[in-house]
Amino acid sequence: MNGSRSVAGRFAPSPTGFLHPGHASSFALAWLSARSQNGSIFLRLENIDDSRCRPETSTEIKRDLAWLGMDWDGQPLTQTDRLEAHLFALETLKKRGTVYPCTCSRSDIVRAASAPQVGEKDSGIARRYPGTCAQRSETEDRDLIAQGIPFCWRMRTPKNGWPDFVDGLLGKLPGSLADNEGDFVVWRANKGNQRGGPSYQLAVVVDDVFQGVTEVVRGDDLLDSTPRQLAIIQELGHSAPKYFHVPLVLDAEGRRLAKRAGSLSLAQLRAQGNGPWVILGQLAEQWGLNPTACEQTLERLRAIFCWNQLKTGPWEWR
Ligand code: GLU
Ligand code: ZN
Repeated sequence: MNGSRSVAGRFAPSPTGFLHPGHASSFALAWLSARSQNGSIFLRLENIDDSRCRPETSTEIKRDLAWLGMDWDGQPLTQTDRLEAHLFALETLKKRGTVYPCTCSRSDIVRAASAPQVGEKDSGIARRYPGTCAQRSETEDRDLIAQGIPFCWRMRTPKNGWPDFVDGLLGKLPGSLADNEGDFVVWRANKGNQRGGPSYQLAVVVDDVFQGVTEVVRGDDLLDSTPRQLAIIQELGHSAPKYFHVPLVLDAEGRRLAKRAGSLSLAQLRAQGNGPWVILGQLAEQWGLNPTACEQTLERLRAIFCWNQLKTGPWEWR
């Protein structure tokens, strides 16, 4: 079935702040890949994490994309408008028995995960969920829920582990990338005055399917999410998109642009008098598509774009 679907990519920014050249790099590659195959590309604002989102940045994101020369098809989708579809997916997972309620607090998890192996806390292993709630019976689950204790829903690690996958840029990758987190949250708990809701992993899958996305181009910081997302896709009975994980753009000191103090934004670069062709020329040089580092437009790059020619990272912004 996959072969007959027409190509569709997407931009899936979280409206949490200004875009920087690292975002421009991933989004331009998503656009170039889709448009060089005469495919569609959709925009989705991933705003489900209200503690981090600043709604006013949605307008700035659209302006930055358009300034760089990127268009998209149809109306942008706002993720918080999709709650019913997300709930429906959760119900399907519940029926299939692939998710279970977890009543652990964050400190319960850190304590359980870090107790036996002192010293592993900093390596990220403390994040791994130890499976405390995975073994309860359905009756025990129901009793707990009836008591009104806050709980989230977690997806069980499949018996044969998380699915392996082939990345369009990086080649074959093991599902074990997702072992760092173990059984992961698909639905967040109601906590205090904060309402629960879908996790990024669930929402991204349900909405990619809804928008007919056939290829996902995004930063390689999300590599370990892919086996989790593939497991959800399999359980919901959908076909998986192709994945292309691209290197993050680093500054001259090797830091991710997002982490840089007062990180330089596209809005700042524009205010300094740089045209979009300057940004694209520099990025394309790092990708390996523009050896002379001359100024570039997306239309010109589209004519020569080919995944096989991309250099692997590190990509730098100087
Ligand atoms: N909204 C996510 C982010 O901005 C990206 C999700 C994705 O590309 O899968 O980090
Ligand atoms: Zn638990």
